[in-house]
Amino acid sequence: MPELPEVETMRRIVERELTGRRLEAVDLRLPKLLRDSPIPTLDPLIGESILGARRRAKVLVTDWTGGFSTMAHFMLAGQLAVLGPGEARSVAGHPTPNPEGPYPHKATHLIYRFDQDTTLYHSDIRQFGWVRLLPTDDVTAALEAFNFGPEGVGPAAISVAELGERLARRRIPVKQALLDQGVVAGLGNIYVDEALHRAHIHPARPANSLASEELRLLHDSIGWALERGIEQGGAKIVHQRAHPRDGFPQVHAREGEPCPTCGAAIVKTRVGGRGTYFCPVCQPPG
Ligand SMILES: [Zn+2]
Repeated sequence: MPELPEVETMRRIVERELTGRRLEAVDLRLPKLLRDSPIPTLDPLIGESILGARRRAKVLVTDWTGGFSTMAHFMLAGQLAVLGPGEARSVAGHPTPNPEGPYPHKATHLIYRFDQDTTLYHSDIRQFGWVRLLPTDDVTAALEAFNFGPEGVGPAAISVAELGERLARRRIPVKQALLDQGVVAGLGNIYVDEALHRAHIHPARPANSLASEELRLLHDSIGWALERGIEQGGAKIVHQRAHPRDGFPQVHAREGEPCPTCGAAIVKTRVGGRGTYFCPVCQPPG
């Protein structure tokens, strides 16, 4: 958390709620959020307006007038909330601070105040995330430096052949290989568990052991899981439990709950050091 669907939901909120808004003031309460920023302050953005937002993997890029862009990575627990005039609010990312609750929260580290009584609150209870300000002309090179693999969903999504080629080079568990942003960009712990469950593949299977039919199924399942997440506006997980019971994710964070396919109890294990949920019946060891 937040993975591709959560960051895509943030992108849509920024684009919908903030395009054309002019920044009147910025309040950076946690200077380390900008620790690797090419321009070490956000003050140059004051008086500039938002032109739109883009996403690559789990990085949100916001383009501003004046030739500026901001890049943000939310790591484990970042959240964006836009509060407009009256009761209007849109929140995406980590479920803490409570999307229904008051802002700013004690974990709100950056506040952008726009015209038309609109405010963007950037919160991060774990403080691993970052924000960078840079010239828009430098964004492409900055993104390339991450060596992201193809996207998991969308017009530039990875093909079955590309996925097969990337997994064939790795003998580590398929769960761990899929978390590598150089294999498929944007996948994280939640959506890998969902995709492997749908593809009936045990998470500890060696990445290079998948048969071609399994690869095809896994490829479909990755797109399916990410699209379901985007549709829902991101996964809803609070205190390690998925909710509501009939929502998405269906397997991740649902230890002991019935598998949606066969009814067996979902098991929690660890693969590559990460908490991993699977169905022991639908996903037998290979
Ligand atoms: Zn099952």
